[in-house]
Amino acid sequence: MKSAVLLCLLPGALAIQLPFELPNFFKSKTVLSSVQEETPTVLPRVAIIGAGAGGSSAAFWISKANERFGLGVAIDVYDKEGYIGGRSTTVYPYDDPSLRELELGASIFVRPNKNLWRATEEFNLTRRDFREEDYETGIWDGEQFLLSFNGGWWDTLKVLWRYGLNAPRRTEAAVKSMISTYLSLYNKDTPRWEKVEDVSDALGFSDMVSSTTSEYLLSKGVSSNYISEIVEAATRVNYAQDADTIHALEGACSMAADNAAGVAGGNFQLFEQFLKRSKAEVFLNTPVTSITPKGHQWTVKSSRGSHTYQAVIIAAPFHQTSITVPQSVADQIPPQPYVNLHVTLLSTNASSPSPSYFGLPEGSKVPQMVLTSRANSRKGGKEPEFNSLSYHGTTRPGEWAVKIFSKKPLSDEWLDGVFPGAVGWVHRKEVADDLNAAAHDIIIIIIILLTG
Ligand SMILES: Cc1cc2nc3c(=O)[nH]c(=O)nc-3n(C[C@H](O)[C@H](O)[C@H](O)COP(=O)(O)OP(=O)(O)OC[C@H]3O[C@@H](n4cnc5c(N)ncnc54)[C@H](O)[C@@H]3O)c2cc1C
Repeated sequence: MKSAVLLCLLPGALAIQLPFELPNFFKSKTVLSSVQEETPTVLPRVAIIGAGAGGSSAAFWISKANERFGLGVAIDVYDKEGYIGGRSTTVYPYDDPSLRELELGASIFVRPNKNLWRATEEFNLTRRDFREEDYETGIWDGEQFLLSFNGGWWDTLKVLWRYGLNAPRRTEAAVKSMISTYLSLYNKDTPRWEKVEDVSDALGFSDMVSSTTSEYLLSKGVSSNYISEIVEAATRVNYAQDADTIHALEGACSMAADNAAGVAGGNFQLFEQFLKRSKAEVFLNTPVTSITPKGHQWTVKSSRGSHTYQAVIIAAPFHQTSITVPQSVADQIPPQPYVNLHVTLLSTNASSPSPSYFGLPEGSKVPQMVLTSRANSRKGGKEPEFNSLSYHGTTRPGEWAVKIFSKKPLSDEWLDGVFPGAVGWVHRKEVADDLNAAAHDIIIIIIILLTG
């Protein structure tokens, strides 16, 4: 028996070309029979482990292949949790579903994430932009605000004065070039790939993934203060990493969040819809404990017993799943680095954070979106105690929702220092954020076990 472990990106290039709903001409017998002839191996039953973005979309695209090519593959999806969405999930302030939900994990996607964008339309989900959350933004270095801006002409002048014209222009050019290359993934002539490295090579991203964001942008003539202040503010809020450690592809992604959107009611609904439309059998609260070869098949052991499959897709961070696989398979799964991140959601009746926490005189206006830079701590100064602090609209009249990302847990005392006497509900969660991944189309990593 030969087992193949493929590191694979979702979704496949062919599937990307077609609308989610099957057009009539695709149901034609001629098309189906000619495709069937070219596809002699039919896999009757597949297990997908993980009902997050990766697993649900894997199920969806397998079901599309079923429809288009008459494959008849049955799909079982397992998740150890009792909900669909994985790290794309929401909570309600005070656990009160009558209040607006807050995203605990994946919050935004952008138009170049064509599949998610289109899915919102085809699944009749309401996209919401974040215009109402267009607050004044400040960049805090742990000791002082380096800059604050609100998007007006005066702020543009401030940015130009501090960084000149070239740094923003050259960064924008690098980001635009990355996006236009990325969009070529959706063309039908995009080469097939089996490993993340292959798609990165095929798209010409190798130099970006092998240099840090700082190195790459410096080589493009972007000034170091723009990188360590503006670009780093974006890499820290989006990927919890600094510009001198995160690779340049991810750095460019973090600067590409223009016109970001989310799904009203929660992004997890996209993944619920993927699963619903895939007609997969979904087993929630069903942890998988082992996957073992059985002849030309795989036995998946879970709390619902042992079941046999022709193929298994592990759509979860393998090293955190506690799933045992044969050593020969485990050896082929590379380590996947994660950043540990603390997410603190809270409600407050303070309309902005306390000036005294930021060493500002009483009555000073503190931005409601505080991003951070390590520029100061690199010179021996104090490091910011959090990665980002952002207001997210009101929970109810006179009360705001706030999200804070930090490397360390934030105590009640710390929160009281930033919002003195004004903290209502608090929800804390420690999460693992992939160093190189996001829920949007390109970067979901899944592992496929095939037999043959
Ligand atoms: C705080 C935070 C903010 C983020 N913000 C964004 C953002 O704004 N935009 C964006 O695009 N991305 C964002 N991301 C990244 C995004 O959330 C992830 O890349 C994406 O959700 C990963 O999806 P996945 O399906 O690969 O994994 P997961 O969502 O982790 O799904 C894996 C599933 O497998 C299940 N599982 C694990 N072990 C087992 C087992 N043994 N048996 C059965 N089931 C198991 C888990 O319960 C889970 O449901 C963010 C991540 C974090 C943590």
